[in-house]
Amino acid sequence: MNLYSYIETFGCQMNERDSEIMAQLIGDAYSPTRSLSKADVVVVNTCSIREKAEQKAFSMLGRLRKLKKKNPSMVIAVAGCVAQQEGRNIRKRMPHVDIVIGPQNLYRLPELIADVKRDNETKVKTDISPEFVIPPFLPSIKAGHPFKRFVTIMQGCNNFCTYCVVPYTRGREISRDPADIIDEITHLVQNGIREVTLIGQNVNSYGLDRKNATFPDLLRAVAGITGIERIRFTTSHPKDLSEDLMRCFAEIDALCSHIHLPVQAGSNSVLKRMNRKYTLESYLDKISKLKTFCPDIVITTDIIVGFPGETDEDFDQTMQLLETVRYHGAYSFKYSDRPQAPSCDFSDKVPEDVKSARLHLLQSRQEEITVERHNEFIGRTMPLVVEGRSKSSDGRWCGRTDTNHIVNFTGADTLQPGRTVQVVIEEACLNSLRGRLKKH
Ligand code: SF4
Repeated sequence: MNLYSYIETFGCQMNERDSEIMAQLIGDAYSPTRSLSKADVVVVNTCSIREKAEQKAFSMLGRLRKLKKKNPSMVIAVAGCVAQQEGRNIRKRMPHVDIVIGPQNLYRLPELIADVKRDNETKVKTDISPEFVIPPFLPSIKAGHPFKRFVTIMQGCNNFCTYCVVPYTRGREISRDPADIIDEITHLVQNGIREVTLIGQNVNSYGLDRKNATFPDLLRAVAGITGIERIRFTTSHPKDLSEDLMRCFAEIDALCSHIHLPVQAGSNSVLKRMNRKYTLESYLDKISKLKTFCPDIVITTDIIVGFPGETDEDFDQTMQLLETVRYHGAYSFKYSDRPQAPSCDFSDKVPEDVKSARLHLLQSRQEEITVERHNEFIGRTMPLVVEGRSKSSDGRWCGRTDTNHIVNFTGADTLQPGRTVQVVIEEACLNSLRGRLKKH
């Protein structure tokens, strides 16, 4: 009899990669399905960074209650940061949950499913150990994207931003053995993968917990793998953007000209209360220096508006920052208390309507800047990797530039996804560019 698994992922790329790992770990016993009613095992991989993602995960768990009633042998697992934070308490709200598994324990999923089936009782694995070693793991080639992949290089975070729970849910920074990372990427490249994104909560502090590696050294080693064409990484902390890393953008051809560098706020007093460990001036200095190594680098960011104590003046400084840096894009959010984050206890909470008004102002201005930045590409010929047909039904193709822009383009009847083509940019929209294939 065939058995099936359904894995739903909320939140970041780290979670996406963790879900792929879990799918692979149970893949021999459970084939993936996208039909919940058919599933014998359901994993809800949660994220606690934003309130919305957490609510969505709980709402899905609520819906699973009915299915479990119909099919009591269905095993329901909650993974990720919410699982880590809530532990056994999840059962109070969701008594139909069978497994609660934190990020450091995901490799134990097959054993926990077997334990639940044998003992018919809830299993909770949320221990975090500073001695934890991310095991070597060769990704499946059959499942997953045909030419690009995420590769986890580290887990956890040591930064303790006051609004964030990651250091508590994922533990302190643990960098993978560089030899394991190189083996994994070599395996991927030998099987047709040409682009990798190195992921972690704070990738540019990779290696600070080891003696034999730094992040720039790792980038150089990855670039040395025959067949690798594009390397990306995310997410970076501004305080760990070293000159050696900046130099990599000038020296490593395969390193894409894009950096996501979350600033969070443009006011030093807010940055201090956030415990971001940099000032606006040092952040801007780093951006200037980075541009001396890579003048065309595309910079995107994250911004939180309405952090406790944020005044109109503080917010104006964030608006001014948009004008100074002219980011190509920004993910912006209203501050919300995350359970157990230190900022929950901060006074001077900003009223909801003020946060909404500030977010609206910030997003409107950033959208204008994004379109202005996109307009700068018009007339340029850009190499891009074909991803497939465009989502619109107008027969266009879709590809991605090394600056991480999506381009929808015309000019070809057939194209192979993964192929690099040259496209002339003709039009700029908010979320993408439009162009036509350059004929040789
Ligand atoms: S750097 Fe700050 S926001 Fe990012 S994961 Fe670490 S504590 Fe959270």
